[in-house]
Amino acid sequence: MNKSIKIFDTTLRDGEQSPGASMNVEEKITLARQLARLGVDIIEAGFAISSPGDFEAIRRIGAEVEGPIICSLARAKKEDIDRAWEALKDAPKRRIHTFHSTSDIHLKHQYRISREEALKRSVEMVKYARSYVDDVEFSPMDASRTDPAYLHEVLEAVIDAGASTVNIPDTVGYSTPGEFGALIMGITEKVKNIKKAIISVHCHNDLGLAVANVLRAIENGAEQVECTVNGIGERAGNCSMEEVVMALRTRKDYYGADTGITTEEIMRTSRLVTKITGIQVQPNKAIVGANAFSHESGIHQDGLLKERSTYEIMRPESIGLVKTNLVMGKHSGRHAFRSRLQELGHELTDEEINRAFERFKQIADQKKEVFDEDLEAIVADETQQVQEVYVLKSMHAESGTGVTPTAEVEMEVEGKTVKQTGKGDGPVDAVYKTIAAITGTKSKLEAYLVKGITGGTDALGEVTVKLEEGNKKVAGHGADTDIIVASAKAYINALNKLEYWKRGKAKSG
Ligand code: MN
Repeated sequence: MNKSIKIFDTTLRDGEQSPGASMNVEEKITLARQLARLGVDIIEAGFAISSPGDFEAIRRIGAEVEGPIICSLARAKKEDIDRAWEALKDAPKRRIHTFHSTSDIHLKHQYRISREEALKRSVEMVKYARSYVDDVEFSPMDASRTDPAYLHEVLEAVIDAGASTVNIPDTVGYSTPGEFGALIMGITEKVKNIKKAIISVHCHNDLGLAVANVLRAIENGAEQVECTVNGIGERAGNCSMEEVVMALRTRKDYYGADTGITTEEIMRTSRLVTKITGIQVQPNKAIVGANAFSHESGIHQDGLLKERSTYEIMRPESIGLVKTNLVMGKHSGRHAFRSRLQELGHELTDEEINRAFERFKQIADQKKEVFDEDLEAIVADETQQVQEVYVLKSMHAESGTGVTPTAEVEMEVEGKTVKQTGKGDGPVDAVYKTIAAITGTKSKLEAYLVKGITGGTDALGEVTVKLEEGNKKVAGHGADTDIIVASAKAYINALNKLEYWKRGKAKSG
């Protein structure tokens, strides 16, 4: 019998703290729905008191996303816990996750309080959280640098106070697998009432050891893992969900443990996180990197053709990486189109289907063979998560050797059609300068990336841009067989997100 390991996903909270990652409420709901499909046990949807956006995201995910327990982070403070409760009260399954530092380094230099005081506050706030909900998790922050005897004392006290999960964070990513495993073992041996709670772990990847530390913790009694999709998070990030899940699944023989994750949803979830945050996955990243399942060596390829298990420890299908199969062409009908999208996990409204189908027909005319990846890009493009203030009507760019690149762009700005021409260093630059002139944006272009979705020069190009204005960063996407058009779409998508954010901010004061 395999030990069951709970997956606590914190992509929406710790993951969102990645430099450059920020998601709006609609994007968070979309991701939470996908996390539910993936089968995570708990979603940490945000830190309710930290911003109105976080609060709203937790509240709506709690009310709208079925399946997982929905959780909010809260410092060990009454106002934080009140706010977490306000955000969670409509969620059928809810958890408050409260935390307090326990290491001497933090207590002395940051909090300037004694160990006794920290313990007292922790116990009081666990009890306070329990007055709202039955499911309370407590984290002694910087646990891996805390005096173990004191750590045991705190854990025993918070479990007595009603915490049913105790999470042991390696907050600064300092621990090593042997050391972290021993820390968990020590907790199972020394904390008298530990059987009344689940031990969770939360590891950071500063030394590249997060997944290794988590696996060692599982060997020593941990039953919940806090992790993020693609391993995003503060600094070097968190334990990567897909790596720990696939390590347990592939090496069940060794760990005797498994999660409830539907691994076939991993790739789709990874792509969604990339799309929303604009943070790309390195090609050689385990499990979800572009090269993770491609074999270059001739000897390996020879072996694979004879018998896959010679060089393949996991099936690509097991993470939802289906062979790019020719799905449809220009003669495919609306019905086939809709049912293929459903198979890919997209439930669209009639209006969205109509828009996406129009796009599909255009693309099928241009490139003849339409692959699943192309369909995903069309869906992403035609189901934008924000209200569109700016709409691209038409554009035209000219470039070549010996001419000054020029662009003509026609846009709809809040219902009014505006047309302008401009010049630039290249066709993309000319288009971007013209769009900037039309919209009067003050944003700065932080990053610009083009990717071919499938092979061939007739492939759809997907462009990701990152814009910054004030302290706000957003990512925009666009796909088209013409990369200049894809570039314009990505820029306008990002501008719409900035506008959405500015208006939301104006509303919440
Ligand atoms: Mn963290």
